[in-house]
Amino acid sequence: MTLPTQAGIVVIGGGIIGCSTAYHLARDHKADVVLLEQGLITSGSTWHAAGLVGQLRSSASITRVLKYSVDLYKGLEAETGLATGWKMTGCLRLATNQDRWTEYKRLATTAKSFGMDMALLSPAEVKKMWPLMETGDLVGASWLPTDGQASPSDITQSLAKGARMHGAKLFEKVRVTGFDMKDGRILAVRTDQGTVRCDKVVNCAGQWARQVGAMAGINVPLQPVKHQYIVTEKIEGLATDAPTLRDPDRRTYFKEEVGGLVMGGYEPNPQAWETGLPDGDVPEDWEFRLFDDDYDHFEQHMTQAIARVPALGHVGVKQMINGSESFTPDGNFILGAAPECANMFVGAGFNAFGIASGGGAGWVLAQWVVDGEAPLDLWVVDIRRFSQMHRDRHWVLDRTLEAYGKHYTVGFPHEEYVSGRPCIVSPLYQRLKKHNAVFGSKLGWERPNWFAPEGVKPQDIYSMGRQNWFSVVGDEHRHVREAVGVFDQSSFAKYELAGADALKALDWVCANNIDKPAGRLTYTQLLNTRGGIEADLTVARLGEEQFYIVTGTGFRTHDQSWVVDHIPAGLDVTLTDVTEKFGTLSLMGPRARDVLATVTEADVSNATFPFGHVREIAIAGHTVRALRVTYVGELGWELHVPIDATGEVFDALMAAGKPHGIRPVGYRALESLRLEKGYRAWGSDITPNDTPMEAGLGWAVKLRKNTDFLGRRALERMNGAVPAKRFAGFTVEDPDIVLLGRETILRDGATVGYLTSGGYGYTVGKSIGYGYVRAADGVSDDFLTSGSYELVVAMQKTPARIHLEPLYDPSGAKVKS
Ligand SMILES: Cc1cc2nc3c(=O)[nH]c(=O)nc-3n(C[C@H](O)[C@H](O)[C@H](O)COP(=O)(O)OP(=O)(O)OC[C@H]3O[C@@H](n4cnc5c(N)ncnc54)[C@H](O)[C@@H]3O)c2cc1C
Repeated sequence: MTLPTQAGIVVIGGGIIGCSTAYHLARDHKADVVLLEQGLITSGSTWHAAGLVGQLRSSASITRVLKYSVDLYKGLEAETGLATGWKMTGCLRLATNQDRWTEYKRLATTAKSFGMDMALLSPAEVKKMWPLMETGDLVGASWLPTDGQASPSDITQSLAKGARMHGAKLFEKVRVTGFDMKDGRILAVRTDQGTVRCDKVVNCAGQWARQVGAMAGINVPLQPVKHQYIVTEKIEGLATDAPTLRDPDRRTYFKEEVGGLVMGGYEPNPQAWETGLPDGDVPEDWEFRLFDDDYDHFEQHMTQAIARVPALGHVGVKQMINGSESFTPDGNFILGAAPECANMFVGAGFNAFGIASGGGAGWVLAQWVVDGEAPLDLWVVDIRRFSQMHRDRHWVLDRTLEAYGKHYTVGFPHEEYVSGRPCIVSPLYQRLKKHNAVFGSKLGWERPNWFAPEGVKPQDIYSMGRQNWFSVVGDEHRHVREAVGVFDQSSFAKYELAGADALKALDWVCANNIDKPAGRLTYTQLLNTRGGIEADLTVARLGEEQFYIVTGTGFRTHDQSWVVDHIPAGLDVTLTDVTEKFGTLSLMGPRARDVLATVTEADVSNATFPFGHVREIAIAGHTVRALRVTYVGELGWELHVPIDATGEVFDALMAAGKPHGIRPVGYRALESLRLEKGYRAWGSDITPNDTPMEAGLGWAVKLRKNTDFLGRRALERMNGAVPAKRFAGFTVEDPDIVLLGRETILRDGATVGYLTSGGYGYTVGKSIGYGYVRAADGVSDDFLTSGSYELVVAMQKTPARIHLEPLYDPSGAKVKS
């Protein structure tokens, strides 16, 4: 077969991800697909994978993707005639301490929330299932019967055959060497065998994806890391259907293979693959290659594994696999449309769960490529979660190694990474440090989470229950409710949209009406074609043709590319990222006006400066954009200050606020305040899976206006129908219950949904959760209010109360009971 000169879609890479993507593009979309592999199919990371297939992740959508993989692997042989080696052995995860046990109880609840049955077993039950295991130190184990194992090469060959059967053309020994590009688009893929013109490119080049992406100017922040496992000789008494085993407290995993064991682990001191090539590139000729055995490094796993399975101490090692795989700075893979190039998509960085993800990742990526829009909420793996800072290879290396090292550590709530910090600091960093700020980091920015008072060590101490900052954050929270606080929100992403067609462009992408006079603010969602919420932001109209857009720190790349990608062609409009031009100080609380009035000559009375308005005012000699908005449910202003003046304006506010006891307040108090007020958080409460009507945000949609906007048609189709799910708030009476999100919602004893976020409201004095209540026949008001609710928290049922209104209302009674 000769390489064609033209194709619809070119997939680069013949590992499991490329083959799965090609298979789904051909099967589901009848696309004209050409797959190019520089070596042979599977010859990158895929051939040497251990083949454990787990499904449960903390995101519902990613769990769905992994479940899809399992369903696909089960049935693929029937279609292609090539076996996948799939065995539903189930998976045991061992716990040897109480923190881990709590983690599993929460995990089992998450599983239930996502429609899977995970059981918790006693050590005796575990021993019965896996007699060769030493169980003396166990508290217990979690058991997911639908997990299993498969043969990575066989699945991939089966997918490749399936892709060909559906019309895809797969070429081995064809290396991609570059791209012909024009105006940020790929016109053709250059190879060592000729050039292929195409409409779209999918970069599934595994650990080469970074360098392949770089040829088109896109950044794929991944790092190849060495990963080892051994394969033993036959072990007497080991069942061929033995469950796969994860022993995270001993950092190891096990899988049965032809009567012996595969055993590997995640060490706290991982070894990056330093290739020695410029930019850390991976060599082109790394086909079916391994590194030398490194028993010195592996010994730590061996010692732990023998303590768990003593038979390992006597059995011979048939083979050691020391292979390389691409890992990422947050342990999640990288999928979707590259923001820097109009027609390159990426599926890479699989962090040693590419076999488990392969089927599902190929399915959603294919849909994404065809539609130009993710088919479900894939935010946690979306390539647009990264930013310019991820072009720093050293930063990516350090953070990736930290994430790898944490693979098997207990996942405490609110845990922060420590490497690569501080990366980006606001002008207030040193000042806030003097106030004993305890920082977290978001997209590189250091942000104060809380402030330690005299005598309290400014440091998070993680635990599974209430953590050391709990009561301190309560004081910060109350201070904002009762007096005034100032939040450093300089990390907010900010853009200016200007041009003769600026209004027209925004009118199309925004669900709410932004056609208001200059000086007005609009809270709006941006919707996809399904009516799902792709972004949630504030638009300030500064002039006839000038808008200022403010969104969350982490959504900087995502929201910018969503707007740019959806501005209709030919409009005269420019979007500029001005994040670093403005510091943001949010002055919030009932005394906010008193403080602001002291530092500015501008009239900040309610009559002159009402809610939902933006004005330029002078503070400490600097022109400040003051936005009258709130995320905490109190009187307040977001002050957008020229970045170099942020310190001076902060000092002026602190001085003027002294009589009112002003203090800096951190992000943990902000979270508690917004939970009480019922403000939705994008990425958890509202996502591309949810429409504004389902989310209770229908009031922010201009359906009654006679203008077309992105998502309108989908909403119109649903208009009038009772939604199948509705957003609601919940509180629990038991003060010891810790809500984190993903807890199951029961209505009259039946599962109807799960929490999308959870926390504590210090004014209402209760744990608060939000989530969607679902019912196939529709969720009416009556359905919501007539049920009796419970939440399942770490496998325990606790009575809950549903709330359809904000829990806190500053204008009326303080707390709604
Ligand atoms: C030791 C080890 C154990 C593992 N165990 C498991 C496990 O138990 N379970 C699990 O789910 N995952 C596991 N993994 C991870 C799994 O192997 C990977 O996540 C998966 O194989 C990644 O697939 P891929 O298609 O992204 O990459 P690859 O398989 O590397 O495929 C990328 C392909 O792109 C090709 N390519 C690159 N550049 C070009 C170019 N310029 N032109 C043309 N072609 C190009 C390469 O030749 C390569 O074949 C393990 C990994 C290792 C290292």
